[in-house]
Amino acid sequence: MKRNIKNFIPLALPAGLVLVAWLLLQRSQSAPSTDYGILKYSSFAAFTASLFLSYWFNRSCIFYITVILAASQLLMGRLAPPGTGWPLYSHQVYTTASLLIPVNILLFSLVRERGVIWGRGKLWAFFVLGQVLLIFGAGMGETPGLVNDLSAAPFSPEFFSLTPLPQLSLIAFAATFFVLIIRLYFKPSPMDGALAGVLLASALAFHYVNSHLAVPVFFTAAGTIMTVAVLQDSYRKAYIDDLTGLPGRRALTEELEKLDGKYSIAMLDIDHFKKFNDTYGHDVGDEVLKLIAAGIRNVSGGGKPFRYGGEEFTILFPGRKISQAEHHLEELRSIIARRPFILRSDNRPPSKPKRVSPPKAPRKKVYITVSIGVSESGGRLRTAGEVVKAADEALYRAKDQGRNRVSR
Ligand code: GH3
Ligand code: MG
Ligand code: MG
Repeated sequence: MKRNIKNFIPLALPAGLVLVAWLLLQRSQSAPSTDYGILKYSSFAAFTASLFLSYWFNRSCIFYITVILAASQLLMGRLAPPGTGWPLYSHQVYTTASLLIPVNILLFSLVRERGVIWGRGKLWAFFVLGQVLLIFGAGMGETPGLVNDLSAAPFSPEFFSLTPLPQLSLIAFAATFFVLIIRLYFKPSPMDGALAGVLLASALAFHYVNSHLAVPVFFTAAGTIMTVAVLQDSYRKAYIDDLTGLPGRRALTEELEKLDGKYSIAMLDIDHFKKFNDTYGHDVGDEVLKLIAAGIRNVSGGGKPFRYGGEEFTILFPGRKISQAEHHLEELRSIIARRPFILRSDNRPPSKPKRVSPPKAPRKKVYITVSIGVSESGGRLRTAGEVVKAADEALYRAKDQGRNRVSR
């Protein structure tokens, strides 16, 4: 349960930005001199950053959602009847955009990354372009029938009258929010957190639409959330190992530079892993690597795990001597050695059996062990690099002494 609460951490920053936008809107209402122009440009500045970065880093989901938001804001403002001083958002554009935005967020959160514009992303480009034209058409009064349908109110207006949002749009916002929250609950993802933030920001923009600053203020928040999400995501890609989800070599190098004072470093290598791969195949090897990494992630004693490369891992113990780190490593070694890995048998029937029988396919239990070498700072070891090298030498001793052990 506690773990699942932690899964909502990716929501914190987006929610914070939406809150700031909301406070800004409240303040601006008591200070009517707030400059609409600056806010309008701030949202387009955020959109530009988001478009540029998502294109650069190949995040089509963010790219296309930004296109839809930017087009909605542009068209809502442009196509409004003139003469009020402030933009009065056209009802048609409002109705269409307030439905398309949550629907697109839902859709793009579900589809796999396909690349922006080029390659397989091409179809999405046409799909989004089509929607932009639809919003434009709605604003020009080309689709009165459709807009009429979209603003229909099949449910009793009591609850829905709390907001100017059309019923259909409100339901789309709620459903998308629900899906994102459920997904976060089971698997924390910064992207889903950001999309939930963008969703919330757009819902509030539409809800407060009668305040002329609402759309630029909340869309600035949405653009900022998306920009930050793309940066976070590319940071992740650079520092987190894809297969195991542990920080990778680059992260380790930076962490080593920060180490100071007393610390211990452990190097861990899976025993006879080449043979394991040869016997069960590389894919099964990868699965086992993931499971072992998950065990290493839970190392006690404040150890920070990294995937050094291949089937080798590094664990840093800042502030700890070997004598304080050793028993945590011993515990980790013994947990891994005692844990059976259940392999699905290879001799499964080539085609699915007609009758579904209870799962009695033979499963094979295998045990995997690891050897660990550990070393500490101080003495003749001056740099973290030298401590790593000493830990590596200790690892060789552990292998020489028969594997499945911790050596210093
Ligand atoms: P030792 O007990 O001496 O460590 O024996 P070993 O077979 O594990 O020897 P070594 O550490 O040299 O072998 C590394 C093997 O690990 C080679 C390769 O088959 C396997 N390996 C390295 N990276 C990966 C990976 O990402 N996935 C899989 N499946 N196997 C990997
Ligand atoms: Mg090795
Ligand atoms: Mg090995």
